[in-house]
Amino acid sequence: METPLSCRNYIDGQWLSAAAGNTLQSRNPALVDEIVATFPRSQADDVDTAVAAAGKAYRSWRKVPAPARAEYVFRVGELLLQHKEELAQLVSQEMGKPLTEARGDVQEGIDCAFYSAGEGRRLFGQTTPSEMPNKFAMTVRMPIGVCALITPWNFPMAIPCWKAMPALVCGNTVILKPAEDTSACATKLIEIFAAAGFPPGVVNLVHGMGEEAGKALVEHPDVDLVSFTGSSETGAFVGATCGRTHKRVCLEMGGKNAQVVMEDADLELALDGAVWGAFGTTGQRCTATSRLILHRDIKEKFTAMLHERTSKLRLGAGTDPDTDIGPIINEKQLQRVNEYMNIAREEGAKVLIGGEIASEDSLKNGYFFQPTILDDVTPQMRVAREEIFGPVVVLIEVSSFEEAIAILNDTNYGLSSSVYTRDINRAFTAMRDIEAGITYINGPTIGAEVHLPFGGVKQTGNGHREAGTTALDVFTEWKSVYVDFSGNLQRAQIDNRS
Ligand code: NAD
Repeated sequence: METPLSCRNYIDGQWLSAAAGNTLQSRNPALVDEIVATFPRSQADDVDTAVAAAGKAYRSWRKVPAPARAEYVFRVGELLLQHKEELAQLVSQEMGKPLTEARGDVQEGIDCAFYSAGEGRRLFGQTTPSEMPNKFAMTVRMPIGVCALITPWNFPMAIPCWKAMPALVCGNTVILKPAEDTSACATKLIEIFAAAGFPPGVVNLVHGMGEEAGKALVEHPDVDLVSFTGSSETGAFVGATCGRTHKRVCLEMGGKNAQVVMEDADLELALDGAVWGAFGTTGQRCTATSRLILHRDIKEKFTAMLHERTSKLRLGAGTDPDTDIGPIINEKQLQRVNEYMNIAREEGAKVLIGGEIASEDSLKNGYFFQPTILDDVTPQMRVAREEIFGPVVVLIEVSSFEEAIAILNDTNYGLSSSVYTRDINRAFTAMRDIEAGITYINGPTIGAEVHLPFGGVKQTGNGHREAGTTALDVFTEWKSVYVDFSGNLQRAQIDNRS
């Protein structure tokens, strides 16, 4: 067994232990006896140090021209590219996803770097006519200040990059508080940011527990913005705290995403989408397909096809090239997914396949759950309404397209959605009527591209969108600037017409 990585906080350009000296461990979820890393259990005083450093650095970083700020981010992209394979191996080891997916996670960071860096030469505002003669009017984007970036474990490279890169190009300084389970990934990522040469204090990393380091960041009076991705429960705390303390806040939370398969769909294509959407990343994606809404004319046939394909999926460590489905991230999540099986049975759902913790052979050394299909599910059941975040998909039968869309929309969440149909009228109706931040036609619910806005409606988010140019709206505020070159007092907001 390899020696665990010894990770530190990164504050003001220094690699530091927690002031109190306490540490935590992250483990390989496929082989739980293997400790991947030890990392600082930071407390409020460590957060204070990081916030002070980020606040000081902000005063000069905001004045670095945006194209120059973007060059640092571009350099991060180049370094990520150089180190892509070793980072992907680490993601696979610490988070558990298969290597091809782990490479995709790093690649998203690379794509985000090059895309965000381009924004350094845009960051467009507007010029607009003034209502007065000899007066010029324009809008400019202004950075916000110290940004706390609080991230989950399921995309340990992509999500921190999605947040940090546009934040930095916009002129903010950042403090990353990564999920406890993927602290080695966060450390390696921030090593790359450090190697790109940002001035001290511009990029900071504080490890630790959510309820300790995370909470201290959210409550800190000198943090100006919190960008949070994680569970709805934590998001509710973050949102309420930021509301009370007047911080800017961007929340990306859970999903209960559905794929509709109509009777006119290409069933093989819909099957590929359903298997990938439901079981890719072991169902641990906020965009995972957790409901399959099937037209009654194809339900029996499609269910048989899905059952057959699911029975062939191979569970294993992400680092094993034969693995289709990796482990669940930790014991708590594994037990949570298992508990939903009891809930499903009590509610009258039928387990078609799976439904158990997988413990054959080497699987017993990790947190594995069998890919699971639940049938006879009605829209009111808890398994049809609550995010399970594991390899579990429920089947709901419908009789019409209208019923399918109504059931798809009957959820507190609204992140991703998908409709398989060959009917152009239905496709456009779905695009218009589905209540979600993302709609796919003839594609699975998972698979975002970095240059398009990402986020959801209802309780999935709070109206912001990450990625795309909309990320700039998260990390900047608008200033309206008027220049009066008339040499006279010209008064707006009074009646100048009479
Ligand atoms: P989580 O809410 O438990 O943790 C997310 C982060 O918040 C972690 O860094 C954690 O340490 C921190 N945290 C926990 N308690 C905190 C507190 N009191 N104050 C401040 N920070 C705190 O979520 P998770 O289990 O890591 O991730 C899974 C969840 O994330 C799922 O619900 C999933 O849908 C969601 N998710 C959403 C998106 C999206 O873009 N909508 C993307 C990925 C994951």
